[in-house]
Amino acid sequence: MRTDFRISGDASFKGGISEYDLTIISPTASAKTSATDLDGLQFADRYRAELSFYEREKYNRYQGKTDTPFVPLLITAGGYLTDTSRDVFKKSLTLSDTEVSYALHIRTLCPGSSPRCIKCGGENGLGHDDLCQQRENVRLGRHEYIKKVLVKALTTAPNSKLNTEPVVKGTSMRTDFRISGDASFKGGISEYDLTIISPTASAKTSATDLDGLQFADRYRAELSFYEREKYNRYQGKTDTPFVPLLITAGGYLTDTSRDVFKKWRQVVPHFEMLSRTISLGLIRARAAYFEF
Ligand SMILES: [Zn+2]
Repeated sequence: MRTDFRISGDASFKGGISEYDLTIISPTASAKTSATDLDGLQFADRYRAELSFYEREKYNRYQGKTDTPFVPLLITAGGYLTDTSRDVFKKSLTLSDTEVSYALHIRTLCPGSSPRCIKCGGENGLGHDDLCQQRENVRLGRHEYIKKVLVKALTTAPNSKLNTEPVVKGTSMRTDFRISGDASFKGGISEYDLTIISPTASAKTSATDLDGLQFADRYRAELSFYEREKYNRYQGKTDTPFVPLLITAGGYLTDTSRDVFKKWRQVVPHFEMLSRTISLGLIRARAAYFEF
């Protein structure tokens, strides 16, 4: 026997690696479940119980025999999924209860309930969670995750070629990735460095630069300072034109980054999936260190 496919890494539903066998069932295939199992069930539950029998058949066939954990994928010809299959499809787009609670809580603009941070003892004001050095450090993991999601999506853009971590000649630095072709934002080839900034990171812009600006413009000016820092670091040193990508932990984009994403929206297939995956990744990361 052979199963249909095996996946390792983030797309694996069980642990780091697992394998799948796909069955498409006629919605009116004869029920194989015994009548007593269906006793007292309402119609929808009855149908699920009937489908789960086909799932059990698959488990009986493969489980314990495959080299890696086995997952049956069952879809009816009409597109109805078994509970397991629904979980497999939903994994990348589903938030846990804690993540949903966090996402709702942050919209109230209230900090966690404790006036003092229970990790560092500092004042637990709005945004402290993003900056506290004693919380679980997900910064590198978050950066790598968003980068990986971007790289994977950009690789699917037609007439485009992508290299990760190109060297900045004569230095020990590398940018995150370089793209040539349709997905390049500047000319035929350009390279990118991604930074995710806490929305409440301290303003580095001088007060006079912010004079008279309304709140939103002030915020953009503050973020653009981080962009200038990136330009100072890389521009004129990279082999190909440099583009800084700056996203706040809450998903706000600098003007440059917004233009870059607009360009990618035109060339990346399933761009909506990309933007959703990034949004959910950002929420998950912040939920991981938020203290209610
Ligand atoms: Zn703290």
